[in-house]
Amino acid sequence: MYDCIIIGKGPAGISTAIYISRSNLKCLVIGKDGTALKKASKIENYYGFIEPIFGEELYKRGLKQAENQGIELKNDEVIDIEYDNNGFLIKTVNSEYETKTIVLAIGKSRKTSNINGEDKFIGRGISYCAICDGYFFKNKNIAVIGDGEYALHEAEILKRVSNNVTIFTNGNKLPENRSIEIKNVVEGKIDSIRGNNKVESIELENKEKIPIDGIFIAQGIASSIDFAKKLGIFIKDNNIIINNNMETNVPGIYAAGDCTGGLLQISKAIYEGAKCGLSIAKNLKNI
Ligand SMILES: Cc1cc2nc3c(=O)[nH]c(=O)nc-3n(C[C@H](O)[C@H](O)[C@H](O)COP(=O)(O)OP(=O)(O)OC[C@H]3O[C@@H](n4cnc5c(N)ncnc54)[C@H](O)[C@@H]3O)c2cc1C
Repeated sequence: MYDCIIIGKGPAGISTAIYISRSNLKCLVIGKDGTALKKASKIENYYGFIEPIFGEELYKRGLKQAENQGIELKNDEVIDIEYDNNGFLIKTVNSEYETKTIVLAIGKSRKTSNINGEDKFIGRGISYCAICDGYFFKNKNIAVIGDGEYALHEAEILKRVSNNVTIFTNGNKLPENRSIEIKNVVEGKIDSIRGNNKVESIELENKEKIPIDGIFIAQGIASSIDFAKKLGIFIKDNNIIINNNMETNVPGIYAAGDCTGGLLQISKAIYEGAKCGLSIAKNLKNI
């Protein structure tokens, strides 16, 4: 059992870990290789760098700094978080971990499929959380739109409520070495989501129309908003709401960095990480 698991190894996650590990608590950072920093070609506004630094280089230095300080890092994708008796159970593509507290430092959520009809049917057949809304589609035709481990995991959850679950990869391929198998897969490109007052079908670019009652969007990897919805964490404008101690409304779950909104900059992510690490240490050690 970890004292804290930090999800995300960008500036917010690493900064949190540095502050927690110095408080002699058992912590783990789990993150997929990918951060907003990798998209930042040149950074010129961060303190202390005389020459511009590439975002990717800064990211690698952060990981190295954490390693040098003995912080445990795992390169993995978190696909689910559940409550368990003593805290939380974090499920990744490769493993499961128990922890007393969690920090969501998973960057900015950018979740939409951009498929024609998505906006129109949100809440009328389109959902973003299998565990929250799957039951509404008991024994119905259910589609999961996505092509990664997260989509497979959502489909696996939905198989508990219906035998008719199909993954629509929208022109992409499922991962070759996938952890979950699913029988019904449609690989054709999606043209649109159709219906009158609610979802009725998915139309492919080849004009094939497939009757569907419920659609779960699970593109890419699970975002802060996906986890927030599953866990009952309050969000506003797609940002996680935190208090002054970086706590969400769910006891034991904290958040830091871009996923809390506001200024989307490295300096703010580092500041929130530091504050979050100190807050967790204070709460766990009763100091
Ligand atoms: C093009 C571009 C240019 C930028 N330029 C600047 C600049 O010049 N100066 C500046 O200060 N800021 C800049 N930024 C912003 C800066 O990159 C972000 O503010 C900063 O990276 C936020 O840090 P973070 O730790 O909150 O999130 P991120 O750096 O995005 O890290 C999120 C982490 O969470 C992981 N993750 C997400 N979901 C999961 C999951 N399900 N399972 C496991 N891991 C997961 C990711 O893989 C990643 O490790 C720029 C951003 C972009 C996109």
